[in-house]
Amino acid sequence: MSLERTFSIIKPDAVAGGKAGAILALLEERGFRIVTMRKMLLSQAQAEGFYAVHRERPFFQSLVKFMTEGPVIVLALERADAVKMLRETMGATNPANAAEGTIRKRFAESIERNCIHGSDAPETAAVELAYFFSTLDLAI
Ligand code: GDP
Repeated sequence: MSLERTFSIIKPDAVAGGKAGAILALLEERGFRIVTMRKMLLSQAQAEGFYAVHRERPFFQSLVKFMTEGPVIVLALERADAVKMLRETMGATNPANAAEGTIRKRFAESIERNCIHGSDAPETAAVELAYFFSTLDLAI
């Protein structure tokens, strides 16, 4: 399969907990190339916009509060079958259900504080990459 790009966020729990380097190393070990990345503090509006599909869910306000509590690292990642492979590398949303060797199994605290985001489909990846990065950012 040809190279594909996906979007990821190392979430505030992992950044504050000093796990960002270990997560980046694991992603590189699994064959992901870091196309570009940025450490940033999400505003409430940015977090609400990013998670707009979840706005009717009972955990939406809590999720937005969590995602804005401290800095995140937003990432563009590239490899063959990147979207599917990142989801596999992350593990299940709830770390209690995540497989051995996955990022969430190793580093996540709870179903909400689960240390990493990864786009769920190629179409979503394109939208999420464009939400955070410019064409020039991605031309690396
Ligand atoms: P993902 O694609 O595995 O990140 O999961 P979802 O798209 O379903 O949910 C987005 C994010 O919302 C998750 O990564 C969690 O941070 C949070 N989340 C999902 N389900 C729950 C839940 O049942 N309770 C809480 N508090 N947060 C949740």
